[in-house]
Amino acid sequence: MVVTAENVETISFELLVTYLGPGFKVPVDVELLLEKLGGKVAVGTDTEDNPVSLRVAADGTFTVFVASNTSYRKDRFTIAHEIGHFVLHRQPCDHCSNTTNEFYRYSKGRDRKDMEANAFAGALLMPKPVFTRFWTGSEYADCSVETKLDRGVQLFQAPRGVVNVRHQMLGL
Ligand SMILES: [Zn+2]
Repeated sequence: MVVTAENVETISFELLVTYLGPGFKVPVDVELLLEKLGGKVAVGTDTEDNPVSLRVAADGTFTVFVASNTSYRKDRFTIAHEIGHFVLHRQPCDHCSNTTNEFYRYSKGRDRKDMEANAFAGALLMPKPVFTRFWTGSEYADCSVETKLDRGVQLFQAPRGVVNVRHQMLGL
C-alpha cells in the first residue's frame, strides 16, 4: 500500500468510525479497537536486544507487545503505532499455515514504515477534525502552546511529545 499523509488521515478515521462508531469519543478507546480488529496486548520482555513489538498470526489475529516499564499514555501510543503496522504494512498471507508477520520495537524512527506507523498513531489518537477543533477553537484561543499541549495530553491521553508532533504536522 502506498502511504501518504492524506491517506493516513483517511484510513485511521475510517477505522475509528467503522469499529467504534461515527459518534466515537476521545480519548479514543484503542484497546477496544485493537480487540475488534482481532488483536490483544501482552507485556513483552525487554531482555532481548530488539524484542518483537507486533506478531501477526497466519489467521490474521495479532498480539501487540508493550514494554513492561512504560506509562499508560506511552502504551496507548504503542498500541496505536502497532495497529498502524497491522493496517498498513502486514503482508497478506493466503494459503499459508504457519507464516507470521513480525515487527520489532526499535528502528530509531528512521525506518519508513515506522515513520508511517507513527503518523498513523498520531492520527488515530488525535483525529484531524477533533484535533483541529480543539487546537484552533475559541476555548483555548488565548492559551500558550505549552498550555494547549498540556490540555491535549489530558484530552487525547497521548504522550506530550506526540501531541506536539501532531500540531506541527497539521500545520496548526
Ligand atoms: Zn514500528
